[in-house]
Amino acid sequence: MANPSNHTHARAPWRWPLHWQILTALALGITSGLAIPDGARLGPLDPIDAFGFLGDLFLRALKMVIVPLLAGSIVTGVAGLGDARTLGRLFGRTFAWYMGTSLLAILVGLLLVNLIQPGYADGVPVGETMGLQADVSQIDENLQGRGAGDLVAIVLRMIPTNPVAAAAEGDMLPLIVFCMLFGAAITMLPSELRNPQLRWWEGLFAIMMRITGWVIRFTPLGVFGLIARIAASSGVEAFAPLARFALTVVLALSFHSLITLPLLLRLVAKVSPARHARVMAPALMTAFTTRSSSATLPLTMECVEHGAGVSNRVTSFVLPLGATVNMDGTALYECVSALFIAQAYGIVLGPVEQFLVVVTALLASIGAAGIPSAGLVMISIILSTVGLPLEGVALILAVDPLLDMLRTCVNVLSDSCGAVAVAVREGETDLYPEIQE
Ligand code: ASP
Repeated sequence: MANPSNHTHARAPWRWPLHWQILTALALGITSGLAIPDGARLGPLDPIDAFGFLGDLFLRALKMVIVPLLAGSIVTGVAGLGDARTLGRLFGRTFAWYMGTSLLAILVGLLLVNLIQPGYADGVPVGETMGLQADVSQIDENLQGRGAGDLVAIVLRMIPTNPVAAAAEGDMLPLIVFCMLFGAAITMLPSELRNPQLRWWEGLFAIMMRITGWVIRFTPLGVFGLIARIAASSGVEAFAPLARFALTVVLALSFHSLITLPLLLRLVAKVSPARHARVMAPALMTAFTTRSSSATLPLTMECVEHGAGVSNRVTSFVLPLGATVNMDGTALYECVSALFIAQAYGIVLGPVEQFLVVVTALLASIGAAGIPSAGLVMISIILSTVGLPLEGVALILAVDPLLDMLRTCVNVLSDSCGAVAVAVREGETDLYPEIQE
């Protein structure tokens, strides 16, 4: 099967892959920022403001797409499950795997970020070193204003009294719940009403994906501006916390893909994880380089169907659904990032707020599209749900591309393990036909 990334190369050989552009922007941003002497001026401009302008433009564009992108993605995703109701048991098993593994991934992330505390250096929040200038008293007010200290209030807040107001205010949790209900209701309409609705929402989603794609193309400029501002205003010491944050994510992703998923594969499906890894290698490498589970889907299906020997009935249902809603790596990343940002601002999140982060991380991973950096956009949703400043995203922008490569691999790996586990529970035998042991 053709590698989807070949297609892009064939169409635009002069175009440089985005992750290289971002890594270059990162390097250029750090060097330019560090090279600016204290008090230097670019004509009438303070260079730190000039860098900040570029970065802020990018952040504003990211914020612009969140609400319509999320609504389009969730409504079409849930509405598309319509036929799944008739698939009953298959759906139940798939759902159980997807929710279960995503939750386990989030919990590993939660544990490690609380243990390692990458947002603190010697007990001091790293936000200041990294050039964050948010007013923490305001944030504390946000937290209280949102009633996050009370579990009952969270449940109440999930039901919007006015969904349009929730969207306008960027209150994501009630919006997600409303969009899920909306999508579920579409599946129950008679076909003459259902089809035009579905097509409208699919159109909206396609438009938002296009606009998000445009925004993502500017990531190198945004990364350059934000990272140069950090480097210029705070020097080299700003990057140590970033390395610790990246390490926390990498450790948690490794735990999930090398311990949790293999263990589940053994226990639930009774197959050898090593065999599975061998047949999935092409899909995993594609996920790593394209940073997109959707672009990798053709390869994932090929590897699971022909390499692992799972029936087409199972793969054609489980894998496309997984590429859209099952993102263990993304879920874990959302949770670690939100807590890192809170720590960096010196905000202590109690058990109830952390629970809110877990629930929102799960929902955000379901709502995230399988495209590069979708998880980065979704972090803003968690931040606004918990009441943390959206500017915190700037902190992790620099390491996002590398972490995106790794979490996309984990996303694809979990989908493929899910397909095998569901197939075995559905009574399929003779898996991994080509591998002799
Ligand atoms: N790039 C990821 C994926 O396609 C989504 C994310 O950004 O977390 O699976």
